[in-house]
Amino acid sequence: MNIILLGPPGAGKGTQAARLVEERNMVQLSTGDMLRAARTSGTEMGQRVAEVMDRGELVTDEIVIGLIREKLEEGSEGGFIFDGFPRTLAQADALGDLLKETGQKLDVVIEMRVNDDVLVERIVGRARDAVAAGGTARADDNEESLKIRLMEYYKKTSPLIGYYHAKGNLRPVNGLGEIDEVAAEIGVVLDA
Ligand code: ADP
Repeated sequence: MNIILLGPPGAGKGTQAARLVEERNMVQLSTGDMLRAARTSGTEMGQRVAEVMDRGELVTDEIVIGLIREKLEEGSEGGFIFDGFPRTLAQADALGDLLKETGQKLDVVIEMRVNDDVLVERIVGRARDAVAAGGTARADDNEESLKIRLMEYYKKTSPLIGYYHAKGNLRPVNGLGEIDEVAAEIGVVLDA
């Protein structure tokens, strides 16, 4: 099964993706994680994306589609979880083409619904926890970048809700519950 986890920053996509990897032998493809890995690699591409990410803006479609293409060619037995990708209509079209080219298909798009005030709380909390644990917060987990990330989401990513609804793939879940409750709801959708 190949699925997309769709939702604003802080919706819990990464948390739920990790559960699905554990429980269903799926492979998580998080473009956010891939880009954070690229930024520390010291490559020229890494440096270019670091600045954009820290501001909270989206990296170019070309770069993220390239990252996903490489992974899709490797294939996955339990299926892929796309986490944080696609984030634009162009990326969604590209994903459809790439899946077709590699003989795969998209099964379900899980829309994780949460309110904005919860998002801000969660992200500010995540930054605080990271610092409390002796680490450093993500460079884009500050209030200014968060505002831009939310605006990028509403302008460029939220149209994907209509796009996948029209394709018949969209399945909304309530992202406001406990981690286990959200996981259970996703499980019901995937087993339907
Ligand atoms: P979050 O969902 O918490 O915002 P991510 O880890 O998914 O965090 O993404 C962090 C940043 O990485 C984004 O703000 C953006 O700059 C970049 N990024 C991740 N995925 C994409 C994508 N598919 N297209 C463009 N930029 C992306």
